[in-house]
Amino acid sequence: LIVPDWPSFKKTVGELFEKARPYKDGNLATYIPQLARTDPELWSVSICTVDGQRASWGDHNVPFCLQSVAKPFNYAAALNLLGVDYVHKYVGQEPSGRFFNEICLDADKKPHNPMVNAGAIVVTSLLNPKEGLSDRFDFILKTMRKFAGEQFVSFKNSVFLSERETADRNYAISYYMREHNCFPPNTNLVETLDLYFQSCSISVNTDSLAVMAATLANGGVCPLNNERVVSNRAVRDTLSLMLSCGMYDYSGQFAFKVGLPAKSGVSGDMMIVVPNCMGIAIYSPRLDQFGNTVRGVKFAEHLVESYNLHHYDSL
Ligand code: GLN
Repeated sequence: LIVPDWPSFKKTVGELFEKARPYKDGNLATYIPQLARTDPELWSVSICTVDGQRASWGDHNVPFCLQSVAKPFNYAAALNLLGVDYVHKYVGQEPSGRFFNEICLDADKKPHNPMVNAGAIVVTSLLNPKEGLSDRFDFILKTMRKFAGEQFVSFKNSVFLSERETADRNYAISYYMREHNCFPPNTNLVETLDLYFQSCSISVNTDSLAVMAATLANGGVCPLNNERVVSNRAVRDTLSLMLSCGMYDYSGQFAFKVGLPAKSGVSGDMMIVVPNCMGIAIYSPRLDQFGNTVRGVKFAEHLVESYNLHHYDSL
């Protein structure tokens, strides 16, 4: 097994979990009204290894919306469906160095990468555009469920409605992108945004999100049922961009300190992938100035101090 002494690993991670609990700075995201109503004390971590060993701490049954953590999964699905050359005709591979919802494009007038809103909205527009919105949503939901090995994956309509109602910024980004021909011909912008908001409102808990992350750690094959969800290549490209762009404007520092591909979302969720080893899911709603979960980042930093998981450890 990939983690030979599972009981002692669980004990140490449990201590790291408690060590991160006292970090109470940061604030809830308020720009989506439904997220502002979350209990800020919620705190959970779950782990699933590529062998299917699982453990969890804290509020691991509490559902939360994926928000930006949906982005790498939609990107992986697009790569798997359409190939890297087609997808990257529409989106770049460079960190933006800007806040996740800024209205900006790169020098080629493409969104910087699929991990910021602009790029993720364009990626959403590529997913089965000829089908109706219901089938397109079903495809995304089914893909998330496959990543999760059919563990808990649901949808929170109130968050979807609340986000759509207050989405001036994402509409502005999208109209700006349409002006610069960022979308494929015949893209329905309003439908694309609905689908984007809906994928952000898919809900999971840390137990199921850990399995989703473990599927990425396992090269695209879900460790619970050995079913392939996406190609190896799609996973490789997704992890590359998670490493360079997954933690917003903290991505460079996170890659330096933790050295693992990760993605965070404004609900306070975060996943970390330890390639060929395990997926880690984290949930704690208070966010730092970059939009990353405060406890989650602390936990990740402590974890690589305890275990040599940093990609460039012991070279
Ligand atoms: N749904 C959010 C938005 O589009 C996702 C952003 C995030 O999680 N950082 O603003």
